[in-house]
Amino acid sequence: MNDAAINTTCAYCGVGCGVKVPNQNDRTIRVKGDSEHPANYGRLCVKGTHLGDVLPLRSRLLSPTLKGKTTTWDDATDFIAGKIAKAVAEHGPDSFAFYLSGQLLTEDYYAANKLAKGFLGTANVDTNSRLCMSSAVVSHVRAFGEDSPPISFEDIEDAEVLILAGSNMAWAHPVLFQRRMKAHSLDSQKKLVVIDPRVSASAKEADLHLAIKPGTDGQLFNALLVYLTAQNACDHDYITKHVENFDAALEAAIADVGTNIEHQAELCGVSPALLLEFFELFAKTQKTTTAWSMGINQSESGVDKGNALINCHLATGRIGKPGAGAFSITGQPNAMGGREVGGLANQLAVHRLFDEKSIQQVSDFWQAPAMATRPGLKAVDLFQGCAEGKIKVLWIMATNPVASLPDANLIKAALNCVETVIVSDVVDATDTLTYADIALPALAWGEKDGMVTNTDRTISRQRPFLLPPGNAQADWWAIAQVAKKLGFEDAFNWSHAHEIFREHAQLSAINSDTPLTFDLSAVANLTLEDYQQWQPQQWPIAKNQLNPKRLYSDGVFSTLSGKANMVAVKPVIPIERKEHEFTLNTGRLRDQWHTMARTGYASTLNQHTNQFEIHINPEDAQRCNIANGDLIEAASNEGCFAAIVRIEPSQNTGEVFAPMHWNQHFANKGGVANCIKSTVDPLSGQPASKHAVVTLKKLNPNHNGFLFIDDQTNLPEWLNSTTWFKSYTTHGVLLKFYSDEPLAEFIESQSNQSFDFTLDDSMKESAHWAKYNDQGLFYWLTAQTELCQWPNTKFLDQATHTVSINHSINAILTGNFEDQASGKTVCTCFSITDEEIKTYLLEHPKNGLNQLQASLKCGTNCGSCLTEVKELVANRPKQVDFYKAS
Ligand code: SF4
Repeated sequence: MNDAAINTTCAYCGVGCGVKVPNQNDRTIRVKGDSEHPANYGRLCVKGTHLGDVLPLRSRLLSPTLKGKTTTWDDATDFIAGKIAKAVAEHGPDSFAFYLSGQLLTEDYYAANKLAKGFLGTANVDTNSRLCMSSAVVSHVRAFGEDSPPISFEDIEDAEVLILAGSNMAWAHPVLFQRRMKAHSLDSQKKLVVIDPRVSASAKEADLHLAIKPGTDGQLFNALLVYLTAQNACDHDYITKHVENFDAALEAAIADVGTNIEHQAELCGVSPALLLEFFELFAKTQKTTTAWSMGINQSESGVDKGNALINCHLATGRIGKPGAGAFSITGQPNAMGGREVGGLANQLAVHRLFDEKSIQQVSDFWQAPAMATRPGLKAVDLFQGCAEGKIKVLWIMATNPVASLPDANLIKAALNCVETVIVSDVVDATDTLTYADIALPALAWGEKDGMVTNTDRTISRQRPFLLPPGNAQADWWAIAQVAKKLGFEDAFNWSHAHEIFREHAQLSAINSDTPLTFDLSAVANLTLEDYQQWQPQQWPIAKNQLNPKRLYSDGVFSTLSGKANMVAVKPVIPIERKEHEFTLNTGRLRDQWHTMARTGYASTLNQHTNQFEIHINPEDAQRCNIANGDLIEAASNEGCFAAIVRIEPSQNTGEVFAPMHWNQHFANKGGVANCIKSTVDPLSGQPASKHAVVTLKKLNPNHNGFLFIDDQTNLPEWLNSTTWFKSYTTHGVLLKFYSDEPLAEFIESQSNQSFDFTLDDSMKESAHWAKYNDQGLFYWLTAQTELCQWPNTKFLDQATHTVSINHSINAILTGNFEDQASGKTVCTCFSITDEEIKTYLLEHPKNGLNQLQASLKCGTNCGSCLTEVKELVANRPKQVDFYKAS
């Protein structure tokens, strides 16, 4: 990396890793971890390592479009301003809404929040962070008086016991997990406890794994509180000085789970011995940190579960101390920044809510002509408002609600009811863009310029190093253009993102005479040069010298009394499934991000998993007569999706798992959102997206096959009558399809096309067709009755550009792709499959992890695959003893 490298921040998760990039306008660059950034000290996970792979202008939206036709920014913003003005005049301010995203920069969020809440008079400003951690926000506010996660990443390393509750940190926040595991490996006293119904990648590394019944985390922590009290393990001195409502919380916990550990264990679906082991470990270890994530938040009582967990920490005084705290881990890169500016419908700005004093102070600061005075609609209610015709103009930015909100069919119907749907995005095709009247091209990572706040309150810069492509513009700029056309010239007359951040910091100074910790007043006069030179800093960055490293270390909380609150909770247990039904758990994959609008286009990131799979236990699979590769339909009352079966021994019986990433753009029968109910937590409005009850139906297509095509805009029409799954390679797309049409008829239907190669093998009931140009294979179709193997992206990247025609014909003929290492890619950085690792281990029976890594390099770059590599070593294939066998 040269001296002119630019420091920026990763675009994906809430760890917010620092990244170094060459200072050049080049979309083929490689990135490196920033060794000085306090979030990662040089490490990057596989997604971060391959940030350069998502820079090519593939499927980019490059100009505004109006009703599908390219237009200018001037015309687009005229049109939008006209529609907003008309809606507000005719139907009132609440007929307008923003639906934003934790992918936006703080400045974008600030501009949207200011326009809606101060100038249009509506608090209909919600965000996909509602789906991610809004329950944790309410838990924080109830317990601490403010949405202020107390700890630093160092505490994750320092904790003697780290408890992950409903978090697969190994895959969702990999660098943070690696930091922990490094500390873990250096100190044998450290313990990792994972609470998760699934044997996730994190659970595989745990010293103690509590595979609880889905949704019973709240009961687990209530039972822990009961145990801590019974064992006299609470810190009553701390409680007396710093905590309120201990008795009420304890009483509620006893009412919820009783005092009998056998009963508690049964409620949670684990053995009493395991439960006791966990309780004892917690009770005796002062330096305990509990980190939680979607497994708790995305439930019908995520707030109560969060408070049940925090209650245990408050009762033992384990908040604000080195290695001891309760820590909600944010999913998105700037979910925290969005909450700082007030980017949730129930917040006003800078951690202020809709009380009279806050409304007045914010209104005075903004010189606001039309101040919102009450909370707006939260995400699910907002789309319900759309369905009821209340929202006339909806502006969606950097998110894909059709794919990510529950009950996708309801969201589609709701969007059809909105008169004007505006979508700002970087790509030109998502499930949501289908419903856009106006599409606005946004800047992507590498082009954006602004601030993001990670999950331990560290504010870092995302810096641009690429010129904006086409007519793409910053989101704050688009909002400001519209605001000016609405007549708010002075208030939105910013010329640089720095002015917006400074304004945000100036507004935060209204908190300096309150108990709130969110305060950026020390940078209220930030110059452009300071902004450009910004080094990562945790908030508060306040004049009163609050220590940002660890909040509440003095036991003084953000409440009026200065004391924290324990909360009496009764978390809801999801309704039990019936005998023939399955609990569908949803979650993340290691190499994909959200609805794949960026990672799905990177061939490298499709190596680990490039098909939409539903994981099922072997016993259930046998009972349902389904095998690996079968196509099945999962259905609930809300809808259904189709996915490919993967038999997974670590999956619990009665439960299936499917990743949340796939959607209609990548799988034409849609993704898990089709089956999720719109049930929300009553306090936070966060949907219970973590699980659903489904039935499974095996589909019996007549034939299946795959199509590789180098032009994704030119897919053949016959695909519409199949069920297909799409995966991007470097030079095209690969679609695996399943069809009900008899194979013979399908073969016949292809006869009117011209191909460079055709093979109809009736013996094998298979047929193959291919077309070539001077670059190699550009169209390859295979159809057969037996389940086909599909070529992997690595093979296709070669066959479509560098390998000779004969070579790929050979592959087509044999059905075995010579250059395609068989097996599943484990290490994306070095393209190493599980079969290669197993072969090495068989050939070198005495070698362990170190020798394996020295030879194949797997897991030696970003380390994201280390859990899988270690598991393969631990379960190394046994050598056959030929002498004994004979
Ligand atoms: Fe990016 Fe990975 Fe770091 Fe998350 S852990 S910020 S995805 S590099």
